[in-house]
Amino acid sequence: MVPWLGAEEIAAVTEVIESGWVAQGPRVARFETAFAEAMEAPFGVATSSCTTALHLALIVADVHSGDDVVVPSFSFIATANAPTYVGARPVFADVDPTTGNVTAETVRAALTERTRAVIVVDQGGVPVDLDPIRALCDPRGIVVIEDAACGAGSRYHGRPVGAGAVLTAWSFHPRKLLTTGEGGMLTTSDAEWAARARRLREHAMSVSASDRQASLLAPAEDYTEIGFNFRLTDLQAAIGLVQLGRLPEIVRRRRELAARYTAELADVPGLRPVVDPTWGTGNFQSFWVEVTAPFPTDRDGALHALARAGISARRGIMAAHRQPAYRGRDTGTVLLPHTERLTDKTLILPLYHQLSDDDQDRVIDAMRAATRDLVTEST
Ligand SMILES: *Cc1c(COP(=O)(O)O)cnc(C)c1O
Repeated sequence: MVPWLGAEEIAAVTEVIESGWVAQGPRVARFETAFAEAMEAPFGVATSSCTTALHLALIVADVHSGDDVVVPSFSFIATANAPTYVGARPVFADVDPTTGNVTAETVRAALTERTRAVIVVDQGGVPVDLDPIRALCDPRGIVVIEDAACGAGSRYHGRPVGAGAVLTAWSFHPRKLLTTGEGGMLTTSDAEWAARARRLREHAMSVSASDRQASLLAPAEDYTEIGFNFRLTDLQAAIGLVQLGRLPEIVRRRRELAARYTAELADVPGLRPVVDPTWGTGNFQSFWVEVTAPFPTDRDGALHALARAGISARRGIMAAHRQPAYRGRDTGTVLLPHTERLTDKTLILPLYHQLSDDDQDRVIDAMRAATRDLVTEST
């Protein structure tokens, strides 16, 4: 992944520096409005990262110690960490072997008497099938939070992913489609949750720093509860506003590159690339490929073959339950065979906006050559 940043971002940051207001202020407010509108969410609250957005989501949803939160193990570890920040227990659910996302069935298998919330993920940008999960959880009073860290530009039943969830967390880390260096957003359909998250991310101040700055005789602020510093800065928001304008073009190019990979690798036996599910379209934030027999080597062998051709690919999505941080912890009793298979057998091919067709052809040729060379070596 390589972020796509240019002269417009530089000009936007320069303007912020010249304005003299570099911390959270008017540009953060504009970015929140613009982003929420683009994602068809009523409210947006900018945060320092997706991780902090997930943390706030769990607080406003009233999740606390003694509660269980169902999460996929097959995700970046922040998804599982968020419940632990509020003292809750992450309970791992397995994923669908085709999409890599949790389903109503895998969530159901992980529910306990204490389940207060479920965090679903649009893994690698593949839209999660949210409606059946909400149909399962809503009647039980379980809050469904969407971790759309990878999801900007992906669509679910014709709308942006996240639009159908009461709380959705987004990431602007450079590994994702839109970047502000670091940064995140919490979008929500609930006005009170938005207002509380907005206070909590700024030390739970009753009057924001930028509102106090705007008056000569600043109103005294109260600290309504124990809050956090999870603020985004105006420097970051200025970049985010430019990046948001680039989103349609980024998604268009990524989908074009993904379609080329899919077509060019279609006749290589043993490779299964990620595809759009029937209920939506992905942004191909990660173009992952499952490597199985009859491909002549395993995933790690394929990564080595690419490396020998000068191409740096990556192992697929991690499985949190295998990490030292979670080994030996009580994270429920569900078996995770699809998670383990996907994390062991998938790799992520290079895919970024500026990737030229020629460079992509090098990756494709290297994958095809790996099949031939490895077969020759082994015979
Ligand atoms: C990247 C990622 C995160 C963490 O995002 P940050 O903005 O770095 O905190 C959380 N969840 C998923 C699924 C991610 O891919």
